[in-house]
Amino acid sequence: MIKLYNTLSRKKENFSPLHKGSAGMYCCGPTVYYYAHIGNLRTYIFSDLLRRMLLYNKLKVKQVMNVTDVGHLTSDADEGEDKMEKAARREQRSVWDIAKFYTDAFFKDTKKLNIMDPDITCKATEHIPEMIALIQKLEKNGYTYVAEGNVYYDITKFKDYGKLAKLQQDELKAGARIAVDENKKNPHDFVLWFTKSKFQNHAMVWDSPWGKGYPGWHIECSAMSMKYLGEQFDMHCGGIDHIPVHHTNEIAQSEGATGKKSVNYWLHGEFLVLDKEKMAKSEGNILTISVLEEKGFDPLDFRYLCLNTHYRKQLQFNIEGLEGARNAFAALKRKIIELKEDASSKTKNITEDDKYKQQFLEAINDDVNIPQALAVLWTVLKDDDLSSDEKLALAFDFDNVFGLSLENIEEEKIDVPEEIMELVEKRQQARKEKDFSLADKLRAMIEKKGYSLDDTPQGIKIKKK
Ligand code: AMP
Ligand code: ZN
Repeated sequence: MIKLYNTLSRKKENFSPLHKGSAGMYCCGPTVYYYAHIGNLRTYIFSDLLRRMLLYNKLKVKQVMNVTDVGHLTSDADEGEDKMEKAARREQRSVWDIAKFYTDAFFKDTKKLNIMDPDITCKATEHIPEMIALIQKLEKNGYTYVAEGNVYYDITKFKDYGKLAKLQQDELKAGARIAVDENKKNPHDFVLWFTKSKFQNHAMVWDSPWGKGYPGWHIECSAMSMKYLGEQFDMHCGGIDHIPVHHTNEIAQSEGATGKKSVNYWLHGEFLVLDKEKMAKSEGNILTISVLEEKGFDPLDFRYLCLNTHYRKQLQFNIEGLEGARNAFAALKRKIIELKEDASSKTKNITEDDKYKQQFLEAINDDVNIPQALAVLWTVLKDDDLSSDEKLALAFDFDNVFGLSLENIEEEKIDVPEEIMELVEKRQQARKEKDFSLADKLRAMIEKKGYSLDDTPQGIKIKKK
């Protein structure tokens, strides 16, 4: 039985899919105005692990992810500027160029992290008619009003507004902090369609029954999730910051339009934080996968780091922690290579009732407890009663969820610490300069640190002793 922590009930619940044997999931995708930072990517690693867990349980999964390429203002509550327009000005390119460039960059990063592509990726700008139709439905059902040309959602008309975030009625009335827009009847009302906004020169505009304009941010997820997964679907995920505004508004829109419960399980990933600060693209302290690569890390070192913290716990990121993850991952890779060298060529099948497979399943099915599942893998690798064949078979089987590409690991790809690489490079330089005594000294230093060097015609091979 799969158990998932549902933000809606604040409890772990047994997962019971709407359609037997399958699971429909929607994950809020990136706003493509800049590179994704490692905090964003932690959330996509989480949804990837969730999906892989469902697949491991032999469920047929349909995962849908949107790409926000219009309408997301710098504040989630309709204030500020459109993030895409701002980026276009910053980079002196068109908004369409910006969207294309950062969408491609996003998928390059997710590929490097072994995040599986969603079954359906859908762009906001390609679903404007669906959004307009949904707003019309809400209009018909009496949830909207027009003020100064913009269409607003009146939250007092939706009985359960705020149920996801457990917002209290008095909080909803109070919310003066976010009620800067004087057209709003209630502070938490939000825009469904902008026409006469303060951005008169908005580059992305479409005709609509309310005038030329563009959609509010939240409507895209309601429109696209319904289009691809139906009016009711199993699960919806994103980062915890989406609970109070974005997902709260999605529920108000989808359920206001259909009168049905839209999503059964809401799952939210905790944040990755740098020095206790929220890490956001708009706050300037951006660490991307490329930055980590420049610092000499493999993107999968970061994935391994994420596997070690449960998705509902904050991940305090620092370079020392990432180095620790790199070392542990390197040890895992060395172990796999050793086993490969020792194993027979026959593939070993694991039975469903295998003790370790059961333990692994229990861990991942307990609200995607990947740290526990990793502990099971390490127990397997250390169990002297198992043959190398059995260990490898289990490791590869579990890796369907971990996504660390364990089957493809080859000797050369083992990470060598930077410190050793520097010594190797110095030795190369010494040899080039024919300073053989220095080269020998450097080799001795490298060996003392636990690595051996082999000068082969193909180049130097560095091995952990
Ligand atoms: P955005 O591109 O800003 O819409 O964010 C994409 C995803 O990343 C959303 O699911 C956010 O909830 C999530 N997110 C944003 N910042 C962080 C962070 N520091 N740690 C983890 N997830 C985050
Ligand atoms: Zn969304």
